[in-house]
Amino acid sequence: MGTATKLHEARWWETLPDGRVHCYLCPRHCHVGDGQAGFCFIRANQGGTLYNLGYAHPAAIHVDPIEKKPLNHFLPGTTILSLGAAGCNMGCFFCQNWDISKSRSDQVHSYYLEPETVVLAAIEYQSPSIAFTYNEPTIWGEYVIDTSKIAHAYGLKTVMVTNGYITREALFEVYEHIDAANVDLKAYTEDFYARLTLSHLQPVLDALKALRHETHVWIEITNLLIPTLNDTQEETRLLCGWVLENLGDDVPLHFTAFHPDFKLRDKPATPPETLHRARQLAMEMGLKYVYEGNILSGGADTICPGCGRTLISRSWHRVSEVRVKSDGTCQYCGAKIAGHFEEPSFPSGDVKSLRKKVEARQGSDRVV
Ligand code: SF4
Repeated sequence: MGTATKLHEARWWETLPDGRVHCYLCPRHCHVGDGQAGFCFIRANQGGTLYNLGYAHPAAIHVDPIEKKPLNHFLPGTTILSLGAAGCNMGCFFCQNWDISKSRSDQVHSYYLEPETVVLAAIEYQSPSIAFTYNEPTIWGEYVIDTSKIAHAYGLKTVMVTNGYITREALFEVYEHIDAANVDLKAYTEDFYARLTLSHLQPVLDALKALRHETHVWIEITNLLIPTLNDTQEETRLLCGWVLENLGDDVPLHFTAFHPDFKLRDKPATPPETLHRARQLAMEMGLKYVYEGNILSGGADTICPGCGRTLISRSWHRVSEVRVKSDGTCQYCGAKIAGHFEEPSFPSGDVKSLRKKVEARQGSDRVV
């Protein structure tokens, strides 16, 4: 059996008395019978062992602006090598990447890329960071950890773009290797989570609190506003109140626009006014960094909470100006701006040896 087809044993599982396996990577706690896969499709029981079928099999790879994740306070204006795979542990009716997230690993074209190959690609594309994104990276936790360890050895940063649906046991093991995350807070009602994502709200809130207070990870939050489902001022007020009380006033919050997709095609695209109103309310309540996304009509700039001047100008995902100093202070008034604005210094380490190692494996890294 070649390297490309070798199964990768999963972490975070145990054998149950009835012979099935219990996966405790995410709050679904799937009990998986022999020959079956969990809800996410890519964690499968074969002969009593749980395997991660997606390990080293990204189905989508791009070099994106980091603002597209979205991260507005983490190395702004840089690019990020972004990769995702098949499967997801939520069942969002409005998924915008459903072609891969709702597929099994054998239903998508994928690559075979060992962690070293990913890191070398990021270096060669001059991207100072790597994002696990597009589908839900939690279900890929083993690959995230292995790739991130090597990325850090070469001076790169690592990013999760996640739904935050992860158990406490796994969270600390995965995020020990992650520098920044954008976490979707898809709504502020259990009803929305239960009916439209087939999951639950509380574990996401718990993960956000743990990330903020018990790890070193820089976090930003995305709230996709869907007409009539989660876009009332009252719900936005409750969501912002929770963020303020539990995470603080300096966690960036991105309100983004929905467009009809997948199983939710009977709702219109979010009008820009809804995003403007939500942003206005969040700022009046005291959140310092609030953004609008997926629209072109403003709300993307970073404003200094000290002097009110524009510090980072953005048009869509393009950054035209950064007036935050590398020590994270406003160039005009010296106020501290939350986030990471240091100049990326990479790659470090022996890139020649990394390249040699990857080249020696050429032939096993391939499209499958
Ligand atoms: S990661 Fe996948 S298999 Fe594991 S509990 Fe979650 S949905 Fe189930």
